[in-house]
Amino acid sequence: MCGIVGAAAHTDVVATLLEGLKRLEYRGYDSAGLALIDAQQGLECRRQEGKLQGLREKLKTHPISGCIGIGHTRWATHGQPVVANAHPQMAGDVAVVHNGIIENHDLLRDRLRQEGCTFSSETDTETVAHLMLQALDQGLQPLEALRSVTGQLEGAYALAVLCARFPGTIIIARHHSPLVIGIGEDAHYLASDPLALQHLTGNFIHLEEDELAEIGPEHCHIQGVSQAGLQRRTVRLAEEEHHIGKEGYRHYMLKEIHEQPLSVSRCLASRLKATTVAAKALGQGVSQALSKAGAVEIVACGSSYHAGLVAKHWIEELAGLPCRVEVASEYRYRRQIIQPGSLFISLSQSGETADTLAALHKAREGAYDAWMTIVNVSHSTLMRESEQALLLHA
Ligand code: GLU
Repeated sequence: MCGIVGAAAHTDVVATLLEGLKRLEYRGYDSAGLALIDAQQGLECRRQEGKLQGLREKLKTHPISGCIGIGHTRWATHGQPVVANAHPQMAGDVAVVHNGIIENHDLLRDRLRQEGCTFSSETDTETVAHLMLQALDQGLQPLEALRSVTGQLEGAYALAVLCARFPGTIIIARHHSPLVIGIGEDAHYLASDPLALQHLTGNFIHLEEDELAEIGPEHCHIQGVSQAGLQRRTVRLAEEEHHIGKEGYRHYMLKEIHEQPLSVSRCLASRLKATTVAAKALGQGVSQALSKAGAVEIVACGSSYHAGLVAKHWIEELAGLPCRVEVASEYRYRRQIIQPGSLFISLSQSGETADTLAALHKAREGAYDAWMTIVNVSHSTLMRESEQALLLHA
C-alpha cells in the first residue's frame, strides 16, 4: 500500500499534491499520478511510471491545473508497474486512487465485462472506477454512489474519487487502510498519512473504519456506517521536525540506518533519569500495565517482528518475565493459549499494519490484562484502538 493525497481549494492545487506525494516518498513506490478537475478542461489525468520526478517532467510538457485534485504513488499489487496500471484509474468521467487490495476484483471484473465495460488496466482498482461510474449513471449522488460501491467490495481500501459531473467535491472511504482529512483555510485536504499535509495544516480528522466523507473547499461531510452525518473531533498534530528528503543518502533505508543514534536518543529523551526510567513519561496507563504484567506477548510484522525478538531477550533477561513474539499474520489465524496476567503488545512503525491491527482485534477478545501498542505514528489506528500507547518519536 502506498500513498494518497487530495486537495479541494479555491486556488490551483497541483503543487500541493506534488509536495504531498513527495512527503510520502519514504514509503517506496513504482509509479505516480494526478487527476484534477479544471473549470475549462474538465477531468484531466497524468500518470508516469518510476519516480515523482518523471511525473514532474511530464507535467512540464503536458501541464494540468485545477482547484480540486487527487494524487497517488503506487506500490503494485495487481499488474505491472506501467503507466496503464498507475493511478488514478479512470472510467468515463470518474477518477479513482486506491491504497490496498480489492480481493473480489476478479468476480467484479467478470460481471462488469458482461455488462459491457472495457478495461484498460490489470489493476484491481479499475473495477472500483467502473462501479462508481455505473452508480453515478444510475443517478446516485456521490456519497450514495460510493456507499453502494463499497458495499460490493471485499478487501482493504482507502479510496478517493473525483467525478467531473460533481466538480466541487472529492469523495473518500476507508476499510482497513488509513485516511486522514486535513482542515485548512478555505480548503480541505486528505492523505493516507498526515505527514503529507503537515506543512499545510495542523488540524486533522481521522476517518474511522468504514466511514465515508465528501470534502470540498468549504465543506466536509462525514458519514458513519449508519449513513448518519457525524461530527468528528478535530485533533491537532504539531509538525515534528521531519526530515523528509534523503539528505544526501543514496536511499531511505541507508538514511534510516545512519539516523539510528538520533532516533534512539529522541525516543529515550525525557524518559530516562540517571539510573531509572521516568515512569510518568511513559504515560500513566503504560507504567501501570508494565508493573502488573506477569508475561508479555508481542505481535508484529516484518522489521517490527524482528525488533520484538530483540525485545524478548531484554524482557526475559532484565525484567525476568516470559515473553512470546509472534508474526501477526500467524497470530490472527490460530487459537491462542493466553497465560494469566499477560500483557499484549502490538508493534508497528505506521500503526496501520493490517495484520497487526487484525491481531489486536482478535487479542481484545482474549483474556489479556492489558493491550498496549508501540508505534511511531501518533494518532494512528493502532494507537487509537489500544488501551495504552508508547510513541517512539523515531
Ligand atoms: N492494488 C492496487 C494496485 O495494484 C493499489 C496498490 C497500492 O496500494 O498502491 O494498483
